[in-house]
Amino acid sequence: MSDCIFCKIAKKEIPAEIVWEDENFIAFSDINPLSKGHTLIIPKKHFRWVWDVENIGNYFEKVREVKKILDEKYQPVFVELKVLGIDVPHAHVHLVPHY
Ligand SMILES: [Zn+2]
Repeated sequence: MSDCIFCKIAKKEIPAEIVWEDENFIAFSDINPLSKGHTLIIPKKHFRWVWDVENIGNYFEKVREVKKILDEKYQPVFVELKVLGIDVPHAHVHLVPHY
């Protein structure tokens, strides 16, 4: 999808504060953070819903890796995982640290 903002972030056409990435997924800071370290993890390939992501198990393994990065960097009490999917039409999950 050429007009998808998250596709543009994945292709580095729009700047973002990148927390982590690999070949298939990228994590970046939410532009309107609910707390310090609020991070989004998305597949680089466009899927409308998290349900559609190829190898969804691998996706969530990566989400857990990013959660561990946030644990080390921010030392929150816990990290909330939110899967909403209605704000931007590209599969994404939120990691929201709580203090
Ligand atoms: Zn997209």
